[in-house]
Amino acid sequence: MNIMKKFFKLSRAEWPLLGLGLFFLAISSAALLAYPHFIKDIIDRAMSNKDQSQLNQAALFALAIFIIQSITSALRYYYFTLAGEKTVKRLRHKLFSQILGQDITFFDQQKTGELLGRLGSDTALLQNALSVNISMLVRSFVQALGGIAMMFATSAKLSSFILLIIPPLGFLAARFGKKVRAFSKKTQDALATSSGVAEESIGNVRTVKAFAQEGLEEKRYNERLEASFELSKQKIKVVASFTNMVTMVGFAAVVFIVWYGGKLVITGELTVGTLTSFLLYVITVSFSVGMLGSLWTDFMSAFGASTRIFELLEKPVEDLKIGKNKFPEGDIEFNNVSFSYPTRKEFAVLNDLSFKLRPQETVAVVGSSGAGKSTLVQLLLRFYDVNSGSITFGGTNSKDLSLETIRHSIGLVAQEPILVSESLRENIRYGNPSATDADVEAAAKLAFAHDFIKSFPQGYNTLVGERGIQLSGGQKQRVAIARALLKNPQVLILDEATSALDSESEHLVQMALDRELGKRTTLIIAHRLSTVKRADKILVMSEGTIVETGTHDELYQNNDGLYHKLVNKQFEQTKEQR
Ligand code: ADP
Repeated sequence: MNIMKKFFKLSRAEWPLLGLGLFFLAISSAALLAYPHFIKDIIDRAMSNKDQSQLNQAALFALAIFIIQSITSALRYYYFTLAGEKTVKRLRHKLFSQILGQDITFFDQQKTGELLGRLGSDTALLQNALSVNISMLVRSFVQALGGIAMMFATSAKLSSFILLIIPPLGFLAARFGKKVRAFSKKTQDALATSSGVAEESIGNVRTVKAFAQEGLEEKRYNERLEASFELSKQKIKVVASFTNMVTMVGFAAVVFIVWYGGKLVITGELTVGTLTSFLLYVITVSFSVGMLGSLWTDFMSAFGASTRIFELLEKPVEDLKIGKNKFPEGDIEFNNVSFSYPTRKEFAVLNDLSFKLRPQETVAVVGSSGAGKSTLVQLLLRFYDVNSGSITFGGTNSKDLSLETIRHSIGLVAQEPILVSESLRENIRYGNPSATDADVEAAAKLAFAHDFIKSFPQGYNTLVGERGIQLSGGQKQRVAIARALLKNPQVLILDEATSALDSESEHLVQMALDRELGKRTTLIIAHRLSTVKRADKILVMSEGTIVETGTHDELYQNNDGLYHKLVNKQFEQTKEQR
C-alpha cells in the first residue's frame, strides 16, 4: 500500500526506537505464549502425579514468566508509543511549514479554518493510530500468529479448523477496511469544512453579532456537522457489524473446540491439560484477532485522514532563495503589465499598465475602489506573477530576484495591519528580528508610537491581541509603521487605511509618514485624497490601467479629468458628513 510506504518513510528517524520496541515485543509475546504451556504442565504432570514440589516449581516458573511479560510489555508500549508521538510531532511541524510555504494562490483557494482543521483533527487521528495503536497492533499481530503456531504445536488435529476460518475472515477484513477508509476520508473532509465555517463565524464575530445572525451561523455550522455526523454514523454501522462478526467467529470457535476437544479427551486421544492449554491459546488468538479488528478500523480511519495530509505534504513550496539576492538600486518600473488573479482568470484586473518610480520618489496611486490599486502591491511583493509585461527593479526583472530579497527590501504597511499575540516590542521587532531594544524604541518614536506605548503600565512589554490589549485603529497603524521603518526597507509601501482613523490619529499617522517621505522610494495607495497632495507624482487608476499622471495641482486643473472628479466627489461627501 502506497500510504503504508509513506508512513514508513516518515518514521525512518524512529527506527532505532521501533527496533527496541520490537525486541521487547518479542520477549513479552514469547512469555505470554509460554504461559498456557505451564498450565498444561500443572494439570497433566503435577496434578495427575499429585506431586506438590512439581506444582510449586511450575507455579514459580509461571510467576517468573508473568513478571518478565509485564515488564517487557511496558517497555514495548513505551518505545512504540514514543516513536509514534515523535513521528506525529514531526508530521505536524512539517505540515505547518508546508502550509506556510505555499504561495498566495493556495491561500486564495483554501479556507483558514479548513487548514487548521487538518492540522488539528487529521493529525490527531494519526497520532492515535501511530502511538498507542501501533504498539497494540504489532502486539496483537505477533500474538495471533504465535498463538496459532502454538495451537498447531499443541494439537494439529484440533487446529486444522483454523484454516477454514482464516480466508473468509481475511476477505471480510479487506473489504471492510476499504469501506472504513473511504468513510473516514469523507468524514474528515466534512469536518474540515465545518471548521472552515466555524473559523469564519468566530473570526467575524463582530459582524455576526452586529447583524444578530448568531442563529444563521449556528445553522450553517450545524448543517456541516450534520453531514459529517451522517458519514460517521455509516462508518459506525460498518464497524459494529464487522466487530460483531469477528467476535461471533471467535466464540463459535471456542464452543467448537470444547465440544470436539472434549470428544478427543473422552476417547483418550488428548489429555485434559493439552485441551486446557489449547483453549488458552485459542482465547489468546481470538482476543488478539478481535483487537486487530478494532485496530484495523482505527488504522483505516487514520489512513483515510492522512490522504489529505500527504497531498498537502507533497505539494511543492515556494522557494524563497532561488534567484539573485542583491536588491538592485534604481528605478522601479511596471512595463506593459497585464494581470488577472489565478482564481478569476477571465477577469483582467490590470491592462497593459506602465509606470516608473524613481529612487527616493513618493508616488501616490488613486482611483475608485476596485480599480486595481492594491493589486499593484501584491505584484510588487511578487505574491503573484504578471501574465504579460514585466516589473523591473533597477532594470532587473523581478522574476530574476529571489522572493526573499524582494520581500526583505520592501516594507509594507497594510490597510488592516495585523499584530501578532506578542508584546508591542516583539510586534515592532517583527520587521527586523535582530534589532536591539533601542532600535525598536527609535523606530517607535519615528512612527509617533512611543508616547502611547509608554503610557501603558507595561510599556513595550504590553501584550496585544487576544490575550492582551486591543489597540485603536490609529495605534495599530503606528505600530505597523514602526515595524516597517525598523526594517529600513529600500521601498516603502503604504496601503492607506486612514479612512478608519479619527482625525487626531490620522494627523499623527500623517506626521509619522511625512517625516519619512523622501528618504526612500515610497508608494502610497491612497484611499483618501487629502493625503496625496505631498506626493511627487500621482497616478490615477481606472479599470486596471493608468489614465492620468501628474502632481496634485497639474491634475486638478483639468476640469474634465478623473482626478478632478474624484477630488470633488470626496469633497462633497465630506461636506455632507458635516
Ligand atoms: P483597489 O485596491 O483599487 O480597490 P484591488 O486591486 O483590490 O482594487 O482589486 C482589483 C480587482 O481585483 C477587483 O475587481 C477585485 O475583485 C479583484 N481581486 C482582488 N483581490 C483578488 C484575489 N485575491 N482574487 C481574485 N480577485 C481579486
